[in-house]
Amino acid sequence: MQLLKDMILEVGRVEGEGVLKVDSFLNHQLDIALLNEIGKAFKEAFKDADITKILTAEVSGIAIAAIAAQYFKVPVVFAKKTQSKNLDSETFEGEVYSYTKAQTYKIRVSKRYLSSEDKVLVLDDFLANGQAALGLKQIVDAAGAELVGVGVVIEKAFQEGGSLLRKDNIRVEALAIIEAMEEGKIIFK
Ligand code: 5GP
Repeated sequence: MQLLKDMILEVGRVEGEGVLKVDSFLNHQLDIALLNEIGKAFKEAFKDADITKILTAEVSGIAIAAIAAQYFKVPVVFAKKTQSKNLDSETFEGEVYSYTKAQTYKIRVSKRYLSSEDKVLVLDDFLANGQAALGLKQIVDAAGAELVGVGVVIEKAFQEGGSLLRKDNIRVEALAIIEAMEEGKIIFK
């Protein structure tokens, strides 16, 4: 998606250990016009697929999923990272290993909002090591639902997530694929 790549080149900042900061438009401040185009691009990428629900994880996936959902005309469910009184005790759970924090945390979705009837599209901002997507897949599997695919705004192809998911026969669609980030420079595939 050219508009997205232009934006990444214009305002993206490469930080230590292969981290790309795009918080001026994607995951802190939100550029809604661009998010609308991202939503349309996801719809185009999955136009052949039958999807009943979009699943993401809080916090940074929510805005992306919510705007994309307008084009799919399906509900969004976001997995929660904390167990709170507001969340039903009956939940489907997934585990996510965070490389940056070197720890595993749980994500949960109420059993009310996913069922074996669902065909689920997982959306997220980044695909890096694939742990967030795999944690969301565990939730889909626990519900007995079908994982139709994973859509990410930015895939960092120099990390293993993309190949891990594709090896597992999961359909992955990325709107921008970064091959390398060297000396602060971003190289797209
Ligand atoms: P994974 O589980 O694929 O390793 O990482 C996915 C999650 O980590 C994404 O949901 C995203 O929030 C965060 N993440 C991974 N790499 C980056 C990055 O380069 N920049 C930002 N801003 N977030 C990232």
